Amino acid sequence: AGNYETHEHDVIIIGAGGAGLRAAIEASSMGLNVGLVCKSLLGKAHTVMAEGGVAAALGNVEPKDNWKVHFRDTMKGGRYLNQWRMAQLHAMEAPDRVNELEEWGALFDRTADGRILQRNFGGHKYPRLAHVGDRTGLEMIRTLQQHGIHTGMKVYMECTVTRLLKAGDAVSGAFGYWRESGRFVVFRAKAIVLATGGIGRAFKINSNSWECTGDGQALAYLAGAELMDMEFMQFHPTGMVWPPSVRGTLITEGVRGEGGTLRNKDQKRIMFDYIHPLYANETAPTEEEADRWLALSTSGQMDKNVRRTPDLLPRDIVARAIHAEVKAGRGSPHGGVFLDIATRRTPADIKRKLPAMYHQFKELGDVDITKEPMEVGPTAHYTMGGIRVDSETQQSRVKGLFAAGECAAGMHGANRLGGNSLSDLLVFGRIAGLHAGRYAKEHANLPSLDAGEIQDAAQEALAPFNRHEGPNPFQLHEELKETMQTYVGIIRTEEDLSEGLRQLESLKERSRTIRIDGNRHYNSGWHETIDMRNLLIVSEAMARAALLRKESRGAHARDDFPETDKEHFAKVNIVSRLHGSTMEVAEIDLPPVPAEIKKVLEEE
Ligand code: FAD
Repeated sequence: AGNYETHEHDVIIIGAGGAGLRAAIEASSMGLNVGLVCKSLLGKAHTVMAEGGVAAALGNVEPKDNWKVHFRDTMKGGRYLNQWRMAQLHAMEAPDRVNELEEWGALFDRTADGRILQRNFGGHKYPRLAHVGDRTGLEMIRTLQQHGIHTGMKVYMECTVTRLLKAGDAVSGAFGYWRESGRFVVFRAKAIVLATGGIGRAFKINSNSWECTGDGQALAYLAGAELMDMEFMQFHPTGMVWPPSVRGTLITEGVRGEGGTLRNKDQKRIMFDYIHPLYANETAPTEEEADRWLALSTSGQMDKNVRRTPDLLPRDIVARAIHAEVKAGRGSPHGGVFLDIATRRTPADIKRKLPAMYHQFKELGDVDITKEPMEVGPTAHYTMGGIRVDSETQQSRVKGLFAAGECAAGMHGANRLGGNSLSDLLVFGRIAGLHAGRYAKEHANLPSLDAGEIQDAAQEALAPFNRHEGPNPFQLHEELKETMQTYVGIIRTEEDLSEGLRQLESLKERSRTIRIDGNRHYNSGWHETIDMRNLLIVSEAMARAALLRKESRGAHARDDFPETDKEHFAKVNIVSRLHGSTMEVAEIDLPPVPAEIKKVLEEE
């Protein structure tokens, strides 16, 4: 294996986004020796990009809000495929986690009487998103870091983990390399929390940072854990479509929360034509009612006879509406639709409530959003699927291996509501850190490391340097993105998915022969090659699960099975696991919902 350094910790956390930081704070506060590893610089995790806010039923703007309403909204948004217990814990604990963040110094926007202000977002019945303008993620990371730094954790930055290590059926540590020097490093630990984020980089048009390559999902899968709900990839309805260099960059749902409307090339507001039956009772059928609702809800004077605007339907519905308008030839010049805030709010309001959006369009697109509409279209954004974990503890089926945040599955079901990720990071980051900490405390000694396993991990990492010829990893990544965009995208069919899988198989073969030049010192081709292994695993899991789920539900839309199945597929989650050297996909039953929880779901 050559030379490598070894670091020993009770718990290591892989990933320093919201979930990883919150987990690390919890485990450290138990008096444990904690290591936090991340592949970018601390403070640069993808979470800093979060814009619109964090969902929590604080009831500051609408006193009628409480955990039950939030729980109901989340389950409905997820089309009831969520693990109910996770959705319940999330709704119950989110307010405490947000208040705690404020105690730790986060400066949220405020109501007139000085409490945390909350804004409207898709699928949330009441104004619920605590926010800091449209830069909420940045404030969250700043606060968690500042607080976490004092708990004594050790941080390893620009270090990529490529393999988890095991002792029997439990984890024993992780193998990785320093991105700068290329030198190997081994972490020996009793418990591991994966908090590595999403997989948006598998798609050509996406809103994600370069880090989002499905590493944690792939690491867990290779170590024997299961992936679940991988067919559910959220396409956010509003990504930039122009100019091409920034296509996919996110426009926060907060624009619609502040009154923005979606229009087609004829200036018609499109969403009234796409009200999903599940939401028909609570959605305004006319522009007059929709606008009245907006005015009332932002002033805290809800009237139950005035219903929500369809511009704030859940993301799966809005993304498919835009897709349909463009397909019918009613799109904007660059293949999207228009998002108009200019005629809805004053320039001063827009600059105050949506400063990042204002600058983003000014700088990247030369568009002044206080005067003109934006052009928007769907962009691959968030993975509901991920590592299957126990709802109470966040532990996977591998002992000592925990997961939290976007890389874990279960909380969001078939479709995530906006704002429910930042709250997920805080709630389940804490729970994962707590249970990883308890697990570590139950084990007096550090597990032993297996030299053969370390040797294999080193050889796997070095193999591409030893080949004489082979494809270029950047080229393969472009092909992968094209394949996923075309065949495993927003609308799916059996034929497309099968073709997608065929192409993925061929990419997998070719990726095994990648050759890279140069040495290990900051070698971007090498980083890319390692990412490709992970991207191919999560892409295959997504395509296989999508092929198996013969219905349309939430973010998963099948042209050949357009209906939502009320029987079979309403009751199963799909899991992928490694079986020998191949991927096995299987259906598992949803956990039964207890009577008292059913009652909460049925109340309205
Ligand atoms: P991340 O923040 O993605 O962090 C992952 C960490 O893992 C990083 O530190 C990375 O370096 C590390 N890592 C990854 N792989 C490895 C490896 N192999 N070895 C070592 N380290 C590794 N959600 C909301 O609720 N509200 C919003 O307003 C909102 N706005 C968003 C705006 C944008 C533009 C985007 C793209 C998403 C938004 N989301 C929002 C979603 C939300 O931001 C993400 O789901 C969430 O931040 C994910 O956090 P995380 O802690 O799971 O992972």
